[in-house]
Amino acid sequence: MSVRVRFAPSPTGYLHIGNVHTALFSWLFARHNGGRFVLRIEDTDVDRSEARYEAAILDELRWLGLDWDEGVDKGGPYGPYRQSERLELYAQYAQRLLDTGHAYWCYCTREEIEAQRDAALRAGRAPRYNGHCRRLSEAERRRREQAGIKPVLRFRVPDTGGDIVVEDLIRGPIRFSLADLDDFVLVRSNGVPLYNLAVTVDDLTMRITHIIRAEEHLSNTPRQILIYQALGEAPPVFAHVSMLLGPDRTKLSKRHGAASISEFRGQGYLPEAILNYLALLGWTPPGGQEILSVPEIIRQFDLGRVSHSPAVFDVN
Ligand code: GLU
Ligand code: ZN
Repeated sequence: MSVRVRFAPSPTGYLHIGNVHTALFSWLFARHNGGRFVLRIEDTDVDRSEARYEAAILDELRWLGLDWDEGVDKGGPYGPYRQSERLELYAQYAQRLLDTGHAYWCYCTREEIEAQRDAALRAGRAPRYNGHCRRLSEAERRRREQAGIKPVLRFRVPDTGGDIVVEDLIRGPIRFSLADLDDFVLVRSNGVPLYNLAVTVDDLTMRITHIIRAEEHLSNTPRQILIYQALGEAPPVFAHVSMLLGPDRTKLSKRHGAASISEFRGQGYLPEAILNYLALLGWTPPGGQEILSVPEIIRQFDLGRVSHSPAVFDVN
C-alpha cells in the first residue's frame, strides 16, 4: 500500500510557523516514501473560515516549495478537497452510524447540558454529558421533535470499559480509558458536522495511510478511532508532532516575534532556510548536520528520529 498523507489546515487565519512545522513533517514523510501529499481545506467552521485565508495558505505553501499531489486547486481521485463541498458525504456517514446504533439524537438543551456538567462536578467527577438521550423512547423523541427541538447527533461510546490504544509513531502507545470519553457530538443541530466526524470521513475516503498532525489533536484521536471501528474500518497510523515553544518555553505565539510565514517572507528569509531550520526542530539527522538542502532532508527524514518532547523555536 503506498503512503498517503495530508495537510488539513483550517482557513481561519494565516499560516503559522507551527502549522508549517507539521505540514513539513507530513510532506517529508510523503516525499521520503514516494507517497502522495494531499492538501485538504477544513472549512466547516463557516463563521471563521475565509476565502482569503485559504488563498494565502496555498500561496505560502507554494512559496515554501511544499507541493501537493491532490488538493483543492488541483483536484484528484478523492475530491472535492474542501470540506464545505463534502457535506453530503458526512450526512451519509452520519446516517450509517445512526442506522447501525453507533449514534443517536440528543435533544438536551444547553441549560440541561450545563446542569449535567455541574452535577458531575459537584459529585467530584469529570464534567460530561450523562448519556440522557441514549434512553429516550420513540414517543419521547417524537414529543421533542414536535416541540421543534433540533437535536444534535451524538456518538454512542461503548460502555464496555477498557482502553483505546493509539499506536503513535512518534510517541509510542498511548492509552485512553473508554470510561473517560463521553458521547461526543458528531453533527450540530444545524446539520453541520463537527471536526471528529468530518476528519474521519475524509481521512477514510481519501485513503490516508498516515495521519501526521499536531499534538493538540492527540486527545481527539481515540474518538476518531471509535468512529473507524463503528464503521468497520481499520484506522490509519497516527503520528503526533510536538508543539513548538518560544525561547521562554511557553507555547509559541506572536509575543515571540514573527509567527506567520508571510512575515518571515517579508523579512527576506529564504524558504530553504526556513525548511532547514524547521526540520531540525524535533528531528535529528543521523549524521547530526545542521545545514541540509531540501533533497538531503527528504533523503534522510525518518519519523523514528522525531522527538516527542517540544522543540524551541528561537528566531535568533
Ligand atoms: N483542521 C485541523 C487544524 O487545522 C487539522 C486537523 C487534523 O489534522 O486532523 O488544526
Ligand atoms: Zn441529550
